[in-house]
Amino acid sequence: MIDYAGRYGTPLYVYRLEKVREAVTALRRGLPEGSRLYYSLKANPHPRIVRELTDLAVHAEISSSGELRAALAASQSPSDILYTGPGKTLQEVRTAIRSGVRRFSIESATERDRLAEAAEAEAEEIGCLIRINAPGPAAGSTGLRMTGVPSQFGIDFDQACAQPGLFRATGRLRPVGLHFFPATNVADPAALAREFRLSVETAAALRERTGFDPELIDLGGGFAAPFAKPGDLPDYGGLREVLESVLDRHLPGWRDGRPVIAFESGRHLTAACGTLLTTVLDIKHSGDRTYAILDAGTNVLGGMSGLGRIMAPAALPEPGADAGVDTREASGGEPAREAVTLVGPLCTPLDVLSRSAPLGSLKVGDVLRIPNTGAYGLTASLLAFLSHPPATEVVVDGAAEVHVRRLEVIETPLEGRER
Ligand SMILES: *Cc1c(COP(=O)(O)O)cnc(C)c1O
Repeated sequence: MIDYAGRYGTPLYVYRLEKVREAVTALRRGLPEGSRLYYSLKANPHPRIVRELTDLAVHAEISSSGELRAALAASQSPSDILYTGPGKTLQEVRTAIRSGVRRFSIESATERDRLAEAAEAEAEEIGCLIRINAPGPAAGSTGLRMTGVPSQFGIDFDQACAQPGLFRATGRLRPVGLHFFPATNVADPAALAREFRLSVETAAALRERTGFDPELIDLGGGFAAPFAKPGDLPDYGGLREVLESVLDRHLPGWRDGRPVIAFESGRHLTAACGTLLTTVLDIKHSGDRTYAILDAGTNVLGGMSGLGRIMAPAALPEPGADAGVDTREASGGEPAREAVTLVGPLCTPLDVLSRSAPLGSLKVGDVLRIPNTGAYGLTASLLAFLSHPPATEVVVDGAAEVHVRRLEVIETPLEGRER
């Protein structure tokens, strides 16, 4: 095994492109024939990872001007990009249109009007998907449900039915499809199938009530992945048959691409590609507790999951036999010898990665491996807090290193200038 920690120091993210390819291939087996697949850049906008996805014909789903830049830098064709998310400003939408983006998801009538204004100002024809908060919930749903309950996302089904104008063209803006994103991180394929079925039924019901015949239905995602703990991606291979029969029943034209069926995934495509390497800087005892101070805190991993609750006690890096090298497999399988609280280098008691990691005899200088950190890792963390240099990221393909970088938080003076 190559000693990346020795070469680049820690904290260090190692991303393996073969894992990205494997995840895409496996997920595609579970999707209806000919489905379009979007990658949500928020999971990991690293340009080399996004480029790998471009090469696999996975399109970009973006929600900011920074993600737009990353997608374009990764050779995504702008006309294939889907721009989503609440609170899009007129300026960012105009910039995206100028870059060639032609498809946006709208979250409200206000966003529809703003997008129509942008299309007019840029003198371009734009298509929009209307994001629907489907009535729900689907029976037995798991994971983090995002629709069927009051939500800041999308337009409630009843409200959409009451505004048929939403589904008509205004100026240069033409509604072309529907967008659903019912849940996230649903590991049980049967539960996820129920969510998709509800979305398909909702699309069919909308067509009945409003006459809107979508060209594209984005059924969203919800494909799960372990986060910062050992484990494999759920196998969604069995979904295809179930989904195809649901589509045949409600939207039979889908087999001829009317509508095109699309899915989105962030974590499921990139979680498994990433491993975080972090060094034990200090080991201390206080009362009945042992603390290991790592060089990776919530500035490097897991700011998004909430401070202090990153890794469940079962989700632990497990030191191997050799100290100081990148040979430790996180298995979590061995019985606890000593519960260690893993903390980062930030000056706050909230900078905790794990409250009771059953680690063996840790030593100062040991390097721990935290698996399944390719999604919602560095860019979902508190990068600027305490102003440590951000972690280095190395992208490898087999034994070849293909990209190494470090993000920087930079200062741009704005005196006397407009924002
Ligand atoms: C966050 C998000 C995703 C990606 O979610 P994952 O759980 O990482 O797959 C996809 N679509 C939308 C609209 C999102 O907000």
